[in-house]
Amino acid sequence: MTVLTLAEVSKSYRGTQVLRPISFELHPGELVALTGPSGSGKSTLLMIAGGWETPDTGTVTPGAPLPAVPMARMPWQHLGFVPQSIGLFEELTVADNLAFAARTVDTGADLAKLLETLDLAKFADRLPTEISRGEQQRAAVGRALATAPALVLADEPTSHQDRTHAEVVLARLRTAADAGAAVLVASHDPLLAAHTDRTIALTGAGAEH
Ligand code: ADP
Ligand code: ADP
Repeated sequence: MTVLTLAEVSKSYRGTQVLRPISFELHPGELVALTGPSGSGKSTLLMIAGGWETPDTGTVTPGAPLPAVPMARMPWQHLGFVPQSIGLFEELTVADNLAFAARTVDTGADLAKLLETLDLAKFADRLPTEISRGEQQRAAVGRALATAPALVLADEPTSHQDRTHAEVVLARLRTAADAGAAVLVASHDPLLAAHTDRTIALTGAGAEH
């Protein structure tokens, strides 16, 4: 079974090739690392995978665990996204950010437990402006996982974490994969390797993938 298939996807910005044609599949239950130096196209590839950017060539095709609609129209409950920019709902508490994301689904997901697992229990009733950047980022991870989505895309999800909390985040993403999600994590955090099934390495413009 395949959750997402990328075939010969490439992208240029103003004549500069950011992504040379790349193909891969994501399967249920696997956590895949997307690595590469800064500027090698990790974010661009995640945005294409999620349907927020259009590739110049190639296709992005959702598989059986996802509804048969183009990624650009994929409902959020099937697609958990941790943006590099975090982007919480500023007017909602941490708990309500998760509850809002999960409002259309009844996964039986225990959001209080999810917050606890992310070491956020004591911040549940705080607004994003009342917690640290690292705590905000963990809340964004919680929001992405609140619907138990079939596909999770995470862009540098440990960039604002100390080592302990980076492990917390990666372990929770691993748990999501173990529960059946396909999880793609763009990161150069060395801690990630211990949690991944395989790695897709981008090497930057002009080089081989
Ligand atoms: P990474 O996530 O690996 O750091 P990015 O995907 O963010 O890499 O960026 C790859 C390259 O594409 C960079 O050189 C970046 O400046 C460029 N780039 C990304 N998005 C845009 C855009 N919207 N317009 C122009 N250039 C972009
Ligand atoms: P839409 O933009 O399709 O109306 P919503 O109102 O549900 O979607 O959500 C608005 C924004 O909230 C989305 O564009 C996205 O930035 C964020 N969001 C919602 N649900 C999630 C989720 N499960 N994971 C990550 N971000 C989410």
